[in-house]
Amino acid sequence: MSAPILPGAVLGVLGGGQLGRMFTLAARRMGYRVDVFAPEDDTPAGQIAYREIRAPYEDLAAVRAFAKDVEVVTFEFENVSSEATAAAAEFAPVRPSGALLHVTQNRGREKRALEAKGIPVAPFAIIESQADLDAAAAHPGFPGVLKTTSWGYDGRGQRRVEDRAGLANAFRELGSVPCVLEGFIPFVAELSVVGARGLDGSIALYDPVLNRHRNHILDITLSPAPVASAVRTAALDLARRILEGFDVVGVLCVELFLLDDDSLVVNELAPRPHNSGHITIDANVCCQFEQQVRAVCGLPLGSTERTVPAAAMANLLGDLWQGGPPNWAAALADPGVRLHLYGKEGPVPGRKMGHLTVADSTLEGAEARVLAARKALLRR
Ligand code: AMP
Repeated sequence: MSAPILPGAVLGVLGGGQLGRMFTLAARRMGYRVDVFAPEDDTPAGQIAYREIRAPYEDLAAVRAFAKDVEVVTFEFENVSSEATAAAAEFAPVRPSGALLHVTQNRGREKRALEAKGIPVAPFAIIESQADLDAAAAHPGFPGVLKTTSWGYDGRGQRRVEDRAGLANAFRELGSVPCVLEGFIPFVAELSVVGARGLDGSIALYDPVLNRHRNHILDITLSPAPVASAVRTAALDLARRILEGFDVVGVLCVELFLLDDDSLVVNELAPRPHNSGHITIDANVCCQFEQQVRAVCGLPLGSTERTVPAAAMANLLGDLWQGGPPNWAAALADPGVRLHLYGKEGPVPGRKMGHLTVADSTLEGAEARVLAARKALLRR
């Protein structure tokens, strides 16, 4: 096994968003420098990076030059092409690998790969043509959710469909690009497990958390998920199998649907820290971002143990700015509220601007307090 990359070294991140920012904060705390590569400048990550390199991901010469100056490359933006990750890999290890990224950035490839490993996924069909539309109407059938295979996130590129005509319309509305039709899963809850796998194959898993969405965007995360211990064990087992099966080095999040018979279905994978894992910053010994630093640097993984009985995280979307600047003082009047803002300029509705976290002795208490704090932001 190669020697660990030690504090003082320069780490490279492809992507300049909030995930890169929180990675950079964790890395800097540990004494690393971080170079950020992004097509924009003054990015959330670039603001606190050692160097911010502005170039498009398609500029392979710029990617090579970037990789030459760092000890390891990781990413926070998932839609980096295989050409770009291969160009970076000529000069520095890319962790997790470009091969894993290639699988997870396409819903069709991801579902096939999960199915091949015996991991439960929603019944699905890949649609690229009119003939595929007809076949999909037979299996998985309706109701279903039609999703573009690439570039979909936070519910974008996604339509619920009830019948053949609806499917044909939705396919056209989504631009007749390659899609996956999934059977609609009547879940009782959405859970996620964030985990990490080190260079030596060691694995560290955070307890499953419960996620609530609003308009397809994550709204609230509760930690730990209030589920039966058999569900917890099954969720952790799935995450472990995925981390091992895909030979991950780094952090990966598994999004899960919980059904009323307590069975679990994998919705999707994110080969990076995840919005639902932000809660680990305030609720666990070693947060998901420090874990990513440790994993990609070949260091031992940190403890995933919770330091508090329960915690709740609420996302702050740009919508909160619509009537003027949010009332930060009012939200922070509860001294247990932790504020995280990502340094983004334009508070566009639907845009993730930051989050709040509260720890409490109970989940109900944590949730009530984080919701009250978020509501207080509107007291102007
Ligand atoms: P995704 O972009 O795949 O994470 O989907 C966004 C959200 O849409 C999920 O968090 C679910 O709330 C919902 N969703 C996605 N796929 C399905 C499905 N097959 N059945 C039911 N709900 C779904």
